[in-house]
This record gives sequence, C-alpha cells and structure tokens, in this order.
Amino acid sequence: ETLINKIAAGEIIHRPASALKELIENSLDAGSTSIRITVKDGGMKLLQIQDNGCGIRKTDLPILAERFTTSKLSTFSDLARITTYGFRGEALASISHVAHLSVVTKTKLDSCAWRATYSDGALVDQKTGKASEPRPCAGNDGTTITIEDLFYNTPTRLSAFRSISEEYSRILDVITKYAIHNPTVSFACRKGGAASPDISTPSASDTPTTIRLLYGHSIAKELIHHQLSSSKKQRNDDDMDEDEEEEDPESWMAECYFTNANYQAKKMVFLLFINHRLVESARMKRALESVYTGILPKGSSPFVYLSLQIDPRSVDVNVHPTKREVHFLNEETITERIANAMQEQLAKQNH
Ligand code: ADP
Ligand code: MG
Repeated sequence: ETLINKIAAGEIIHRPASALKELIENSLDAGSTSIRITVKDGGMKLLQIQDNGCGIRKTDLPILAERFTTSKLSTFSDLARITTYGFRGEALASISHVAHLSVVTKTKLDSCAWRATYSDGALVDQKTGKASEPRPCAGNDGTTITIEDLFYNTPTRLSAFRSISEEYSRILDVITKYAIHNPTVSFACRKGGAASPDISTPSASDTPTTIRLLYGHSIAKELIHHQLSSSKKQRNDDDMDEDEEEEDPESWMAECYFTNANYQAKKMVFLLFINHRLVESARMKRALESVYTGILPKGSSPFVYLSLQIDPRSVDVNVHPTKREVHFLNEETITERIANAMQEQLAKQNH
C-alpha cells in the first residue's frame, strides 16, 4: 500500500513539455544515442519522439500503458533506489488517458516492428476503439512514441492553454537541458513540416561544447567547471566496495558548470539534475544565485548547471503532484557546500 501511495502522489501530465520530459527520460533509460522529436502546435496537436534504444518486447505491449506497469521497479526498495520523478510506470498510463497514444517499437531480436495504440490505459484498435493486439509494421530498432491531441478529452485543461509559442519554448527548454546533461546523445527537435530543426546536437560530444552550441559562445568562454563530493566519501577503492558506498546516506557528488563575473544574463539560467532527472528547486536556485551577489552587477544573473548525485533513498519521491519541487536529505548542508565551492572558484578567477 505504501508503494501505491508513493506512486499515486506521482506524476500528472501538466502540459506538453511535462509529457515530453517523461518520454525523453524513457528514451534515455532505453539506452538511446539518438532522440528525434517532432512537434505540432506547441505539442498540443502532435508530440512525437523517435529513439534508437532497446525497444519494447511485443509481449510487454498489451500492458504498457497500464498504470504502475514498469520494467524498472518491483519493490519499494527499488523505488527508493531508482530516484526522483518518472520511474513509476505512470507516464504512459497518464498520457493514454488524456491523449491519443501510439507506439511503434522494435527490439534487436524482432524481425519486424510492432505498432500499438492506447486509450485509457488499454491497447485498442485505432479505428474501432476496441481491445486489440499489436500489429506488425516496418520500423527500425528503437521506439517511436506519438502523442496526438493532448487533452482532447479534458476541455477545462485544454482551454487553459493560450500560447502555442509558449508551449513550444518550454519544449525546447526541456530538450536543451537534457541535451546538455547528455552530451553523448544526439538530440533533434523540429516543428512538423519544417525543413530544418530548431535544436540539433551531435552524438559523442562533451558538456562545454554542447553548452556552447545551445547557449552560445558568450556563455561557453566564461564557464567554470568544478566537481566536489561529500567529505566522507574519500575515494579509496581498496577499503570501500560498492555496497558500503550505498550504505552511506550522506555520500554525494556534484558536478557544476557555472559562469564567471564576465557573463551577465538578465534572468538566471539554472539547470538542476538530481540523479540524472531534471528537477526544480527554487531554494537551491536562490542559494546559488546569491553566490553572485557583489560579483555581478545588480539585475544581472549567472548560468548554473548542476548535476547532483545523491543516495536515491534520501530524495523525497512523495512530493505533491502539482509541486515539482524536489527535496532531499541534508539539502541545506549540500547546497552550502556547493555555494561555498563556487564562491571560492569565482574568487580565484577574480585574482
Ligand atoms: P516508467 O518509466 O516509470 O517505467 P513509463 O510509463 O514511463 O514508466 O513507461 C512504462 C514502460 O514502458 C517502461 O518501464 C519501459 O519498459 C517501457 N518504455 C517506455 N518508453 C520506452 C522507450 N522509449 N524505449 C524502451 N522502453 C520504453
Ligand atoms: Mg518513464
């Protein structure tokens, strides 16, 4: 029951960008090195994501969009281990309740691809809406997920959306952030019918190169790169095996790219990944922005990209569904350590 409750507090698809975030995470979980996204009407009409990951077995397709169906967890300890948002078998289920969802997928072992369409959690025939079977079709290894007419059956939600361009820019923002966090994966995003993509990153790149590509040269040449970890976790592979490491609840690692005093943005750009999930923390954002007080002129803000790895058990997965804010154990101590380290690095650069 606890598992169910933990899970039930989970995700709801709020808007196209939050649906896309789930799909990107699924593609990354599937080991994809190429993720191609197509968007129509800010994702309200069409949101399609094509990956070259491991694919989904045909036998898993009938229950794919059932609630709590996941290939990624079976027990509560798994849930705790697996981290933050998006790992509870709810994304595709939720989407199938508020949109037309279809999946074309092929594993390496399949001789052809399989297509399945879903409605309200069930695999159905696209035309009749009745229970159905996956159908064979042509396709490459990997998975293509198509979401059409998001919120078509929830008029109140639908009427809340005003601006296609705002939804599209949120989509580009999510892709930009995942592309920076996954520089070895090639991302592309285009509007349906457009000749050229709005975002296109190569595979096998690195973080600074990807930041330069997506945020421009002016950021890239002012970047400081810094890594730090919990003081307890002295890396000594001889007397600390992996199991022991997991037992230490305070063990954490942070990797940070942040701009120096020469870079000034109007609004702070803050990318926060915790255990490779894009999350929000207004508190961390505020704390790290305040590092720049006295360094940047008033009204100017930095770029900060922080990737934090912490014990999954210390992340609060039971956050209110409408609040995307993440919380974790020792948040204040960790934030302070990071802020202090940034301050030191910035001071070094100024001399
Ligand atoms: P979760 O990611 O929490 O397991 P989802 O609803 O997001 O739940 O996905 C359900 C399941 O569908 C996943 O566990 C995974 O097995 C499969 N799946 C979804 N998308 C993909 C994909 N792009 N490639 C391979 N498998 C996928
Ligand atoms: Mg998922």
